Amino acid sequence: MTQDLAKQFQGPISNVFDEVHAFWIAGGSCDGCSIATVGASSPSVENLLNGTIPGAAKVILHHPVLAVNAGEEFIKPFRLAAKGELGAPFVVLCEGSIMDESLAAETGGYWSGLGADEDENGDPQPIPSSSWVTRMSEHAAAVIAVGTCATWGGVPAAANNPTNAASVMDLLGEDYRSVLGLPVVNIPGCAPQGDNITETIVAVLMFLNGLTPLPEFDELGRPSWLFDETVHRGCTRAGFYEEGNFADEHGDKECLVEIGCWGPVVQCNINKRGAINNAGGCMNVGAPCIGCTMPGFPDSFAPFYKTAPGTMVSSNISRVTGTVIRNLREMTMTFHNRTDRWNKNGKVPSGWGHVKEPNLLKKVMHYTYEKMQFSDSPKPGSKK
Ligand code: SF4
Ligand code: SF4
Repeated sequence: MTQDLAKQFQGPISNVFDEVHAFWIAGGSCDGCSIATVGASSPSVENLLNGTIPGAAKVILHHPVLAVNAGEEFIKPFRLAAKGELGAPFVVLCEGSIMDESLAAETGGYWSGLGADEDENGDPQPIPSSSWVTRMSEHAAAVIAVGTCATWGGVPAAANNPTNAASVMDLLGEDYRSVLGLPVVNIPGCAPQGDNITETIVAVLMFLNGLTPLPEFDELGRPSWLFDETVHRGCTRAGFYEEGNFADEHGDKECLVEIGCWGPVVQCNINKRGAINNAGGCMNVGAPCIGCTMPGFPDSFAPFYKTAPGTMVSSNISRVTGTVIRNLREMTMTFHNRTDRWNKNGKVPSGWGHVKEPNLLKKVMHYTYEKMQFSDSPKPGSKK
């Protein structure tokens, strides 16, 4: 996907920018993505705001909750950016789904907005978030959707949603391109892993300054280096899955697939990166994956915490093959838990407990195992 975009891109960027504005616009959201962002540590929001990342421009953040100014003073840069008159490059960060404001207007209300304009009677009327996104996206270096509500629609767009909520991609359409030539960049997760957000922003800022090639994004605009793999492939419990060992209830240490984990088919990196500051992450703390990074979330993963149909096949195959593999591995471990001296003496001198000696069958199998292990190299200490 990125190669196609690189071809479309019109040429090298000649300016190196010291500062880039970032406008945070919230639609239908719980603010969880804002919380996740301020929890990022690698890089942190402070790194971005202080301009301490070599090659990345310092970020001037306009965030409705984190701002120290308010009222028209806060809204003014938004107005300038929406008209293309800011005089500096900027990115738009969207949190939350895009609500259908025409539905709210039917009853004279609005779903989500920022600032106000006067109507024909001089009364202030809220400016919908969707209007800001549409107008600012025309002049933005990049539009970055943060969190599953903004990337795919998320919980507000679940079945029967009364607001006709949708994603930023749905609002701007497939033909949308930012000033840098980018379609909407999507960082999913409910909430997303904070470092995924800040790292992607830095990757875009580096590209903006012409210091790196266009980062790799997949066909849905996800940063490929963060979302290419399934969460199962990086799960600390994947060894249990392979050996056919499954948790029966929450709190068990084994693989959670039979109590509703969708990890084998979900693209997410939280187990490798941790939820915050390299700690936590769903299965690391005992929670089955409910697919919150995926476009089908939440409806495609309902009902939560119920064994997925595909598990009937895959976990039962693992159970059969895993039982054999597990027993063979346990036998190998028996001999790798002993020194050569203990083997020669036929006894383990441990005061902690009695270590059972392997029986004749196990010794024969281990002898064969070692013959194969040292078939093309001498065993350490041998005279050959
Ligand atoms: S807990 Fe989920 S992600 Fe982890 S190994 Fe089991 S199925 Fe895979
Ligand atoms: S492991 Fe699953 S539930 Fe947890 S963050 Fe990733 S996609 Fe969401």
